[in-house]
Amino acid sequence: MDQLLYIIYIVPTLLALAWFVRRRDRLERRSKVVHEESSRAGLNDPVTLHPVIDPARCIGCGSCVKACPEEPLHHVLGIINGRAQLVGPSDCIGHGACKTACPVEAITLVFGSERRGADIPVLTPQFETSVPGIFIAGELGGMGLIRNALEQGRQAVESVHARRPRGGELLDLVIVGAGPAGFAASLTALSKRMRFVTIEQESLGGCVFQYPRGKLVMTAPATVPLVGKINLRQTSKEDLLRFWTEAERKTGVKINYRERVDDIVREGRGFLVKTSLAEYRAHSVLLAIGRRGSPRKLGVPGEELPKVVYRLIDPEQYAGQHVLVVGGGDSALEAATSIAEADGASVVLSYRGEAFDRAKARNRERVQSAAQSGRIKVMLQSSVRQISTDSVAIEHVGRVLDVPNDSVIVNAGGVLPSDFLRRVGIHVETKYGTA
Ligand SMILES: Cc1cc2nc3c(=O)[nH]c(=O)nc-3n(C[C@H](O)[C@H](O)[C@H](O)COP(=O)(O)OP(=O)(O)OC[C@H]3O[C@@H](n4cnc5c(N)ncnc54)[C@H](O)[C@@H]3O)c2cc1C
Ligand code: SF4
Repeated sequence: MDQLLYIIYIVPTLLALAWFVRRRDRLERRSKVVHEESSRAGLNDPVTLHPVIDPARCIGCGSCVKACPEEPLHHVLGIINGRAQLVGPSDCIGHGACKTACPVEAITLVFGSERRGADIPVLTPQFETSVPGIFIAGELGGMGLIRNALEQGRQAVESVHARRPRGGELLDLVIVGAGPAGFAASLTALSKRMRFVTIEQESLGGCVFQYPRGKLVMTAPATVPLVGKINLRQTSKEDLLRFWTEAERKTGVKINYRERVDDIVREGRGFLVKTSLAEYRAHSVLLAIGRRGSPRKLGVPGEELPKVVYRLIDPEQYAGQHVLVVGGGDSALEAATSIAEADGASVVLSYRGEAFDRAKARNRERVQSAAQSGRIKVMLQSSVRQISTDSVAIEHVGRVLDVPNDSVIVNAGGVLPSDFLRRVGIHVETKYGTA
């Protein structure tokens, strides 16, 4: 009888325990590796809303790790010494699913960290900034995620429509940015027959356009005027962009692409919006520019050529080309190594520094092995002097070399939007790990 009991109850319990311990060990080991890599690469600061875990409350159950929608592509949360920890902070995009999943309320969602503050503009519940007439929607206001951006874009324009002057010689509204927030805002303005322009420095979709190819996108349903309920929960980057492009075509909403807003100044009772191509006068302005800023430029002759881009979208498009990648961070190293795998591509990686010490070890190793096999030519302590149609001039250890070139990808970081907000006179609060 005892033996039977042993077989029915104790053996399965022991097996389950062994399975749990093995899984936990694996998770702890993986968490340590990811954490060390992030720290070594200096990627310790989350960009947006992120979790802080109270170690005194955490029971180490791992529900938060499992609940994170970025798993298994990115390991944002992990378990170290039996407690949850933010191991890949820079991959956190603020889903907040971890907070809901935690059974003991050990997680708080905050902006910024003790070391590095996050600048969050002060907004009224109607999305108006401290400068009356300038509104903010989407991630720039602190709340990330596609659905929030879509909802806020719509609500902000409804608020402009209800509260602000319209008509006369001025436009009713200038919308800056055509990410999810700016796109929803534009459709709302169109549905309300407002006189507006939307200005976008790159292309439709904002951050979504810049996701890696095939990225799985987790979102939630949202309602947008003229389109109706967007009932998507899990989709791909490509399908989402196709959906929005189709909505753009069907509604006829007009967006001025490849135009960047450089300054906004008060003029009379409205605003003068200065862009890289024109000037617009409007009663109100809606900033839907996200938090990732504008890519830093090299400032060299020839940079305006269409072959120069600031983000890699699809490595395959560079098959058979001579490509120059500029930069020394993870994005530059990932771009260079993935292009080097495209058929017949030859890659030059140019960086001002002496070593790629800001990048993850895994990326440094990939570059080293591609360089050894001759697929990438690495030029440290070099700087681009000029870009021409079929070549680039690169200064390297005192000599200027003329290198054949078909495409240039500049991954030299970005200029953050906080400076822009301050210049325009918008009050921003720096949060150091507070909600
Ligand atoms: C890698 C990654 C994965 C993500 N995955 C998900 C996910 O699965 N699910 C989810 O819900 N969210 C995800 N997010 C977050 C989500 O993409 C953002 O929260 C959302 O795109 C924010 O929308 P937005 O319109 O506020 O800003 P953005 O999407 O950043 O759009 C801002 C736009 O403004 C333009 N702009 C900026 N400055 C100017 C200027 N001066 N003049 C003209 N135009 C300007 C930019 O070019 C850009 O197109 C992810 C983010 C990243 C980085
Ligand atoms: S869900 Fe809560 S208790 Fe469980 S590991 Fe995460 S923070 Fe700790």
